[in-house]
Amino acid sequence: MPPILYIIVPCYNEERVLPITAELFKDKINELIKKGKISNISKVLFVNDGSKDNTWKIICDLSKKDDCYQGISQSRNRGHQNAVLAGLMEAKDLCDITISVDCDGQDDINAMDDMVDAYLNGCEIVYGVRSKRETDTFFKRFTAEGFYKLLNWMGAEVVYNHADYRLISSRVLQEFANFKEVNIFLRGMIPLVGFKSTSVYYERHERIAGESHYPLSKMLALAFDGITSLSVKPIRMITGLGFFMAVLSFVGVLWSIFEYFSGTTVNGWASMTSLICFIGGVQLVCLGILGEYIGKIYLEAKARPRYIISDRTYEPKYKKGSGKYEC
Ligand code: UDP
Ligand code: MG
Repeated sequence: MPPILYIIVPCYNEERVLPITAELFKDKINELIKKGKISNISKVLFVNDGSKDNTWKIICDLSKKDDCYQGISQSRNRGHQNAVLAGLMEAKDLCDITISVDCDGQDDINAMDDMVDAYLNGCEIVYGVRSKRETDTFFKRFTAEGFYKLLNWMGAEVVYNHADYRLISSRVLQEFANFKEVNIFLRGMIPLVGFKSTSVYYERHERIAGESHYPLSKMLALAFDGITSLSVKPIRMITGLGFFMAVLSFVGVLWSIFEYFSGTTVNGWASMTSLICFIGGVQLVCLGILGEYIGKIYLEAKARPRYIISDRTYEPKYKKGSGKYEC
């Protein structure tokens, strides 16, 4: 029997684009069903991330109109990563494969054919990788590429130019469910699960409608979160810096003793002040980075829920293959 596919679509204030892309997702599912690659009870699962506009109403209407659509709603806005996670965890017992994709039509949905083919050929994870960034502004391209380089340099290994457009099998998701951390950075965590994986390449388009929710500030926050959630390299760098400073200070001490005995110790106010300022600054930065890790430990220790689902467009007890919601 062909695998049941769930397309997981996080949505936050997407009333302008959702009616357009929902059709496209459905067409893609029907096309794959016709080709015999996926089961005819495959679905599109929307995750409403606490939208303040009509997004949830649109999802409910879609699900009433067509069994192919389902939706869950988070009790409040928790951000893209938590929305995708909620969808994946919801789907892991209902289907054989999931493909997570943004709802704005930027990611070429035709890449799903290659993803499903790769799964049928034995891959459990298939990463959607952007082949080029021609549709991006120079600024977005520069910052986005810097983002991946910075992440890798800092020890958070991610697939270059891969965002959250990927196929994951339910087998991988069952294992991933054991990753209980609350600071989540999916594109860095999924590779940690292992299993056979591959990449497919696609071109990213402009948003069909609406506006991006990821300005530079959010992207920097995501990069910082990714690094501190996945790697302790910044702390190691602090240790390295500490050693370097210690050696430098030792040379400084030798130098001042030498100066003292040569009788020229009155000079040096400027160098002294700059040294104090410099070392003070470095120490504060280091304390900040350590604080960031302590903050993360604090959040992990609380172990609050990573998402709370307040509504569903279907009975939550629906189980894989029951055929209750045939497309
Ligand atoms: N999104 C979400 N919660 C948020 C912000 C965004 O679920 O708090 C969704 C959004 O609806 C979209 C996807 O995440 O489907 C990517 O967001 P966006 O297109 O704004 O980011 P960009 O593509 O510009 O990086
Ligand atoms: Mg987008």
